[in-house]
Amino acid sequence: MKDSDPLEDPRPQIDGSDPLEDPRLQIDGIDQALIDLIAQRMNAVRSIAEIKDADPHQPLRDESRERQVHQTWRRRGAAAGLSSYFLGRILREIVHYSRRDQERRLRGLDPAAGVGDKVVGFQGIVGAHSQLAVAKLYTSRCGVTPRSRGYAGFEEVVEALERGEIDAGLLPIENTTAGSINEVYTLLGKRRLHIVDEEYWEVRHVLAAKHAIPVDELRVIRSHPVALRQCGHFLSRLREVEVEHAFDTAGAAREIASGDSLTTAAICSEEAAREYGLEVLARDLADQPDNITRFVLVRLQAESPDPRLRCRTSMVLTTDHRQGSLARCLDIFSERRINLCKLESRPQPETPWQYLFYLDIEGRLAHPQVAAAIEEVRSHCNSLRILGCYPMRNLVEALPTEETEPAAEAPAGGKVVAEPAAAARPHPRRIAVGTALFGPDQFTVIAGPCAVESRSQILQGAEMVRAAGATLLRGGAFKPRSSPYSFQGLGFEGLELLHQAGRAYELPIVTEVLRPEDVAAVAAKADMLQVGARNMQNFALLQELGRIDRPVLLKRGMSATLDEMLLAAEYIMAGGNHEIILCERGIRTFEPATRATLDLSAVPVLKERSPLPVIVDPSHAAGRRELVIPLALAAAAAGADGLIVECHPDPAAARCDKEQALTGEDLQRLMRALVPILEGAGKRPGQRGVA
Ligand code: PEP
Ligand code: MN
Repeated sequence: MKDSDPLEDPRPQIDGSDPLEDPRLQIDGIDQALIDLIAQRMNAVRSIAEIKDADPHQPLRDESRERQVHQTWRRRGAAAGLSSYFLGRILREIVHYSRRDQERRLRGLDPAAGVGDKVVGFQGIVGAHSQLAVAKLYTSRCGVTPRSRGYAGFEEVVEALERGEIDAGLLPIENTTAGSINEVYTLLGKRRLHIVDEEYWEVRHVLAAKHAIPVDELRVIRSHPVALRQCGHFLSRLREVEVEHAFDTAGAAREIASGDSLTTAAICSEEAAREYGLEVLARDLADQPDNITRFVLVRLQAESPDPRLRCRTSMVLTTDHRQGSLARCLDIFSERRINLCKLESRPQPETPWQYLFYLDIEGRLAHPQVAAAIEEVRSHCNSLRILGCYPMRNLVEALPTEETEPAAEAPAGGKVVAEPAAAARPHPRRIAVGTALFGPDQFTVIAGPCAVESRSQILQGAEMVRAAGATLLRGGAFKPRSSPYSFQGLGFEGLELLHQAGRAYELPIVTEVLRPEDVAAVAAKADMLQVGARNMQNFALLQELGRIDRPVLLKRGMSATLDEMLLAAEYIMAGGNHEIILCERGIRTFEPATRATLDLSAVPVLKERSPLPVIVDPSHAAGRRELVIPLALAAAAAGADGLIVECHPDPAAARCDKEQALTGEDLQRLMRALVPILEGAGKRPGQRGVA
């Protein structure tokens, strides 16, 4: 049986047989075997779950075992010529599925019992993202998809719950692109609801119409306003199209299915397109690749999760008007080393300038440490109500890698409280760049001119760098200049000069690459490739850098948040290149006294969230020579793993960024001033000649 249109096969069919048939049959057989094997694996997992269930002291997660499995997959995958990145993703999904299955067994629920007569409410109609999330969550809660019923709005879901028409309601609470969903927060504050579970749902938008027609023949595209906003880039390319708002994405699909227009399409979920018999014309339309919604499951009664599950506790509180009263409440959690996951404030319309604060903490309500903290917080605020304590879920499970430290031993009775933040810190990585090393016990200085200007200039520059004891040589061959009339760099000629200077003075070299098509040629000459601030979200460039085996210096965009910076790093990692050094170089603020505002908090925050080395560029942040040394020293004191600074043999004659270029003497002064700070921090000056 063939499932594709033979006309699509460009190959001639001399004897009338389809040459694709045999390999497709083979693939079908292999897929069946894969499904059978996954089912067998799940059975084995269930046997383990039964053993764990019988012994409440058995920790649920065994990270060393997971690490071992991950390593085996990587090793065997590599031996079989498979990408460790993609194999890792498959394993993550399998482990995620297994863990959810184990957790569901812990609840002691008979998978099939009692669910058939339960109804879960959601906002929207069949095929809405909320309904799909109900199905996903219940697979974890009890292994069976319950009946679900759609309502016009969030409030209607809550009313149905209060009337006893449904047993639970699933409400979206926040989205990675649209932010918090205020209406749901308001409902949680006002109504007697208990959060009993949560779910993450990845929203993927497709374009669907009655028949498969070319996208440029469409005249109308209809969807929920938020979905339309999320697909702005895609829509801006379609000049002839009119955009129409719909009540929800699945509703738009249903209207198109029941209408006559062939040139109208909906932006909806793939599932909604299937449900209403539409053809998918295009996929992955959203501007941002990660569009994730967190839902909460609400009921009228609280539930008490198994003590071995990692839990979140949500509460809503009001404080009095005194200054610092909210800060005092937050301090109580921090003093008890309880992780605050979310803080949200909503005004109370009936009492202007008084706010309801919504807090999520990591930890189980019944744990003595959490309970004591909450009681203390209660004594500092006007009112505090627990919204619920429920298992913390993920989109997919993170796997421990070799770089992840083993988790602390679970205390008897289960690991339930949030670990102190330090325990969750990623284990810092070491990255070699030529003969230089970046890592937690090193402080590595990159120095050199803004741009390579001539052979003699870069050779003198390299000599200065070497003499001062810095470890790597920088120099721009391709310069991203704000003005098209400024010096643009010597291009490949400059790269060759930099390469030769690096060789002459035995310094690894770092240079910026501007275009994806130049990546391979630059990688052939440079030891590390720099992504400049202006290119931090040039995704085509990042993807290309993911394919090479050279470290990348990723500079923070001038208006990029740290999360955006880390996501930019993930673009590179997604291609398989994990050798990335992050660089804080100042951001744009209202302050004109410096070229940019050096955000030194970026250093500890990035280190908290990522294992990658973090260095600081005080030159582009300061824009003025006299500020470079103080900012560099502050960066070292803040825990940076190194610096990138600009210097020039003759700053007054520099063709680029002359005001911020250090002289050779300045550079030596900086290197000397760093010594006591690095001693205090237990870091060695970056070593040369350490491969
Ligand atoms: C540079 O380092 O040469 C540079 C242009 O820096 P940024 O991208 O941080 O402006
Ligand atoms: Mn510069």
